[in-house]
Amino acid sequence: MPHPLARELGNLIERGRDRQLRLAVTGLSRAGKTAFLTSLVHQLRHAGLEAHLDLLPAARDDRLLGASRVAQGDLGVPRFPYDQALAALDDTPPRWPEPTRGISELRLVIRYRPAKRGLLSSEIRELTLDLFDYPGEWLLDLPLLDHDYLSWSEAQNHRLHDGDTRQALFAEWRRAVAELAPDDEADEAQLAAIAERYAAGLRAAREAGFADLQPGRFLLPGDLDGAPVLQFFPLPGLATSQRKTLEALPENSVYRTLAARYAHYRQHIVKPFYQQHFRRFDRQIVLVDVLGALNAGPERFEDLSRALGTLMQSFAYGKRSLVSRLFSPRIDRLAIAATKADHVTPDQHGQLVSLLEALLAEPLKDLRFADVPVRAMSLASIRATRSREVEQRGKRTPALAGTTLDGDEVLLFPGEVPPRLPDPGFWARQGFDFHAFRPLPRDAGALPHIRLDAALDWLIGDKLQ
Ligand code: GDP
Repeated sequence: MPHPLARELGNLIERGRDRQLRLAVTGLSRAGKTAFLTSLVHQLRHAGLEAHLDLLPAARDDRLLGASRVAQGDLGVPRFPYDQALAALDDTPPRWPEPTRGISELRLVIRYRPAKRGLLSSEIRELTLDLFDYPGEWLLDLPLLDHDYLSWSEAQNHRLHDGDTRQALFAEWRRAVAELAPDDEADEAQLAAIAERYAAGLRAAREAGFADLQPGRFLLPGDLDGAPVLQFFPLPGLATSQRKTLEALPENSVYRTLAARYAHYRQHIVKPFYQQHFRRFDRQIVLVDVLGALNAGPERFEDLSRALGTLMQSFAYGKRSLVSRLFSPRIDRLAIAATKADHVTPDQHGQLVSLLEALLAEPLKDLRFADVPVRAMSLASIRATRSREVEQRGKRTPALAGTTLDGDEVLLFPGEVPPRLPDPGFWARQGFDFHAFRPLPRDAGALPHIRLDAALDWLIGDKLQ
């Protein structure tokens, strides 16, 4: 029998844990993280008032009293710019908020009444919800921890030969790096110039809709912009069979200099993110812009699939997985959401989830095997369209009404979402035309959304019982 005091202490710790939750939001650039977090905070703050949260039982049962922002726990992390985001949405005409570029945090205290069968409890409880937003690109760096510079160079060179568009985007870097030999004496300025071309290639690839890009911090350097730790790149033509010769080169050789920078990047940039932040998240939602990738065509769609495979490795908690070996993470619930569902008519939403599941089939299998509860869903954090029906030759067809970013009112049927991974024939048969829409004006009401409440239920609902 444990000592009564020990038992009491145990209960206290348990309760403390139950009253605090660290929820992280991630996704690749433009997946919709900023919109999601803005809407999530907004809906919780307006819970019990004008927010529509019927799929969240605590709100449906009128037990949710609202949420207020309080000073965050970690003073070293920038605050999520909620006020600026809301100001953009309330502008005339409404604008999408500026996306965040690094990690940011916001702490909410949610007040609710616990569920009691049939009765409304008079007790009021609080849940402290720490929300984090960080770029999915940072997770693309996890495999770097499994590579040294030589094996990484080899792997990247394979990747850079994939697809014509990708090759063309790195042509300038390739020309510049061709002048470099591993045993040359390193010239700082020359390495910086070539590294900048490599980073420019990555940026151009991202602009062109590619997602599977490494190192992730080259795309979102934050305060590391221009630092030598970001001035490395793969060397073409290296093979692991040359390891001995390469490692015997002088310290100031090109090879040894780049290898040292790579090691520093792994140790001082990739690892600390996992150690200081990732390891401490309780719950996680990964946002995926599936529709955007469909719109961009087969090469980008395949690239997204590869990038997601890499990104999801951070959640593969099998005992021998890299992340478990290194960081013992504690995420106990995961959501994967296809965002911007308001870009397609409601009858397509089921297919959108099927497509997301197909895209993530392998990682989902691993997660289920590792017994991490995971749910796939589709949502629109901030609905920008209205669902309509149009009559065509006596037949009613679903359609969408919205305002384009240029201010044109349109009524359209954007296309069908394939429920499975599209095959080559599919791309030839059917094009996609998903428009970007301006957010709807909010009036005095809450931000309109689709199934954000379902996501909230999965992510925090059990803590509001
Ligand atoms: P982030 O880079 O992941 O933070 O992505 P953002 O949240 O900035 O979203 C990128 C863009 O996607 C926005 O500027 C919008 O144009 C669009 N977007 C995001 N969420 C939604 C949504 O729920 N509906 C629609 N229609 N567009 C969205």
